Formats: sequence, C-alpha cells, structure tokens
Amino acid sequence: QSAGGAYGLESVVRHTYERARHDISGELAAYIPELARVDPERFGIAAISVEGELVGVGDVEVPFTIQSISKALAYCLALEALGREKVLAHVGVEPSGDAFNAIVFDPTTNRPYNPMVNAGAITVSGLIAGAYGGEAFEMLMDRFSAAAGRRLDIDETVYRSEAETGHRNRGIAHLLKSAGALDADVDATVDLYFRQCSILVTASDLARMGATLANIGENPLTRATVFGVEAVRNTLSVMFTSGMYDFAGNWAFDVGVPAKSGVGGGILGVVNRQLGIGTYSPRLDAKGNSVRGIAAFRELTEELGLHIFDPT
Ligand code: GLU
Repeated sequence: QSAGGAYGLESVVRHTYERARHDISGELAAYIPELARVDPERFGIAAISVEGELVGVGDVEVPFTIQSISKALAYCLALEALGREKVLAHVGVEPSGDAFNAIVFDPTTNRPYNPMVNAGAITVSGLIAGAYGGEAFEMLMDRFSAAAGRRLDIDETVYRSEAETGHRNRGIAHLLKSAGALDADVDATVDLYFRQCSILVTASDLARMGATLANIGENPLTRATVFGVEAVRNTLSVMFTSGMYDFAGNWAFDVGVPAKSGVGGGILGVVNRQLGIGTYSPRLDAKGNSVRGIAAFRELTEELGLHIFDPT
C-alpha cells in the first residue's frame, strides 16, 4: 500500500497540525544564546512518500540548526566509508538510557554505548575526520545536501557559539581519546562535530532526508543515490532503539518508527519503504525532544497506522 493517496496523507497532516499547534508547553534550548532567540511559535510538519508525494503544513521552510539529527546521518556515512566492523569497534549499538550528554561508556567494552548520544557521535565524527582529513566537513555537507535535495548551509554564529561553549563535548572527546575509542585528533574531531550540528535545515529538508532513508538510500525526488543500502539498514536500527534521547523506549512503544531529534527543535522520522517525516517546533520537553513534534508524530502514526508493528 502506498503512503500517499490511499491514506489521505494531506488531510491527516493538516488535521494533525491543527490539533498539535495549540500546545505551547516546553522550553527553548538555552545552552547557547542563539537557540534561545528563535521564534518559539514556529511549527511545521512535512511528509514525503517514496513515490515523491509531498505534503507540508505550517512553517516547513523555516531554517533551524540540525543539531543531534546530524548524528544519524553522520553514522550512516561512517558505516559506508569505513565499514560496519571498523565502526562497531569504536562505538556500540546499545541504548544507554542515559541523557544525551552523559559522560559514561559501556563498561564491558570501554566504548560509547551508541552513536546517538554525544560520546558516540563524537567518536563517529572522529572516524570521519580521520578518514577524510581536511575534506571531512565538505564531504558531510555534500551528502547531507544530497539527502535534502538542495544545497545546505551552515549557521556560522551557532557554530562559533557551539565551539566557544562546548567544554563538556571537548571533555568527552578527551575521555574518548584516553579510552582508545577515539583515534583522531581531539580538536579536529570536536570541530567537525560542532560544524555538523550547526547545519541549517527546514522541516521539508528533514522530510526529504527521511524519505531518502525510507527509500533505502535513494532520494525519491532527485533519484540520486545518497546512502548505501546496508548502512541505511544499520542506521535505522540504531535510530529505532536510541534516536530520541532517554525517551527512546517510550517512542518505540507509542510511535514505532525510527527517528532522531535535535535540540534545535527538529525531528526526522522514517517509515521504512514508505515515508519521510520532518517536524519543526522549537519548544522542548525535559528530555530535549520537541513537544509539538512528539504530538505530531504520535497522531500521524496512529491515524495512518504507521507503527512498525501495526497489523496492516
Ligand atoms: N550541539 C549539541 C550538543 O552536542 C547538540 C545537542 C542535541 O541536539 O542533542 O550538545
């Protein structure tokens, strides 16, 4: 069954938007001033089917920083560039149940639990920095752009702020280095991490990126092959178990699609072989997930029967 006309995608997205938009609970991220300055009222939902049907309601063209959603895409690129074995030797695939910025490694392996928490993501950035050297960010930007189907940009001010205030992430990188999880240079690694977090996207971009993953690596709109099939499968698995911070179990239970959120207010969701979904609303709950984004995903997956274990 297609995710498009058969489900009445457009009317469900509209209805979902109307229902969720009155919820003004939650707080803007405030660890850097730039994130605390965004317009809290913004809200957009975009969905794109693997057949290329596109629906967007609300602020789907408003740019915001991708933040932790970059972790999922960077992981996919690292898997492809370095192979599963090499990546698994540096970072695990076990949900941690800890907060995203926890300073804790898996005690049996002395490696970060998974690539969706900062420690794991910084390790992945190190793998990419090691493999691509000075070209690392350009490579990443090219591939993120190909997934979005348009040339993306970086928010320089957010990047500078991240770099100036990122002591905890720099600390994590040093600990990774001393544990042997990180081979690459600490400064180059965190620089790449801060840059990738500062890439500007819109809800439509997230939907197109999601649709590219849903379409096993081929952007359904441009037909460009962006990610390898095996890397996509492995990335979606980790997104399913660990993509929503320490809310991942609840998310898998209720919403039931692989997803990744970021403190910029975005959520990227993937309905395997069917649909990419992107939401933007910058007010976050206590775990760092977008309040209206969660509400929208709950409603959409319920209405459209998209939970991975739904019977139809
Ligand atoms: N730049 C943020 C950090 O690493 C990203 C956090 C997030 O989106 O979870 O702290």
